[in-house]
Amino acid sequence: MLNKKSLRDLEFKGKNVLVRCDFNVPMDDEGNITDDTRIISSLPTINYLIEQGAKVILMSHLGRPKGQPNKKYSLEPVAKRLSELLNKEVLFLQDDEVVSNTVKKRVEAMEDGDVALLENTRFRKEEEKNEENFSKELASLGDLYVNDAFGTSHRAHASNVGVSTYLPSAVGFLVEKEISIMGKALEEPERPFIAILGGAKVSDKIGVIENLMNIVDTIIVGGGMAFTFLKAQGYEIGKSLLEEDKIGLAKELIEKTKEKNVKLILPVDVVVAKEFKNDTEFNTVSIDNIPSDMMGLDIGEETIKAFSEEIKKGKTIVWNGPMGVFEMENFAKGTIAIAQAMAESEGTTIVGGGDSASAVERSGYSHKMTHISTGGGASLELLEGKALPGIVAISEKQCTTIYNAQFTSIALLE
Ligand code: AMP
Repeated sequence: MLNKKSLRDLEFKGKNVLVRCDFNVPMDDEGNITDDTRIISSLPTINYLIEQGAKVILMSHLGRPKGQPNKKYSLEPVAKRLSELLNKEVLFLQDDEVVSNTVKKRVEAMEDGDVALLENTRFRKEEEKNEENFSKELASLGDLYVNDAFGTSHRAHASNVGVSTYLPSAVGFLVEKEISIMGKALEEPERPFIAILGGAKVSDKIGVIENLMNIVDTIIVGGGMAFTFLKAQGYEIGKSLLEEDKIGLAKELIEKTKEKNVKLILPVDVVVAKEFKNDTEFNTVSIDNIPSDMMGLDIGEETIKAFSEEIKKGKTIVWNGPMGVFEMENFAKGTIAIAQAMAESEGTTIVGGGDSASAVERSGYSHKMTHISTGGGASLELLEGKALPGIVAISEKQCTTIYNAQFTSIALLE
């Protein structure tokens, strides 16, 4: 994973460079972009290619138009925002077919250093099926292909996997950063290595727990998923989130951590509430005192202390999933405290994408983290130990091949 060709390994001057970005940004009902983090994250690659004199042809999906053109999911607002951020015109190649003769002509007219953006690749039904015809159409626009869409790397679609079959390929700076930081943490971590897991469901994180158990020294569990573990240990959890059919599995996981000598830390107290809303009666209780008519919506003060002390000992800390219902102010304290403990840590701190990333943004500690992943699903799959098709598809660095070739010829001579 760490040996992929990067931008530094290719010559771009005068070339048509097709770049897969992750411009899947949130928008309000009027089509205004409400968070442009993903566009900003793509700038280093785009700026580098402009400086190198490439003709930069960008592509991305946005939302779920389900293989049909749909104005609501047009990338036009992204082209506009990108123009502002680059301080340069971005040619928006609006076309329901994404690639057409008109689009090809407009690409042919581009000059070195120009930037263009194709329409939403998911306007074509072939995109998510990774179909050859659409992959070839896309590839016909470029001489080289760059994957800088970490957020979609866990999917095998035409615009990120299919297209790489037909063009020399490399990873962009964002993907390179994501896989080098996450890859190093998972392959050769500095210890102690601590994983913090939270979020709603155990079922979403089974693969992660099972894989991390073989790598980490400590697993901290908070959030809604902690209650299934507490129930497995025999605690009464009131109306807290429970996955009844996963109690047995939680027991097994607890046993496995013991066998593998991995420290498993669960909450010792929780904030319980009468109802699932911010303005409701709430208080903190120890885990052996959860009232039967209340639900746990955050970790308590003692738990915050225990988790934070453990986090401070870590040299590598990976976090995925909030500690409570952080969207509600009264139950966000635990998640913010964990963000703070990570911010104060001297170790390498990595935050998985999705909810954990937005929780860290909200806490105001994002600048103190070593790395906040831009891909929720993709980073989760990396933590599960899975290979990401979008990364697998990119060529390996040449030097390995030469080295291997030399090795083979020596072996043959012998
Ligand atoms: P996930 O997508 O699995 O990381 O879950 C994130 C969601 O889990 C967030 O929307 C949180 O509000 C929710 N969550 C965290 N803790 C709890 C809890 N104790 N009870 C219910 N939902 C929770």
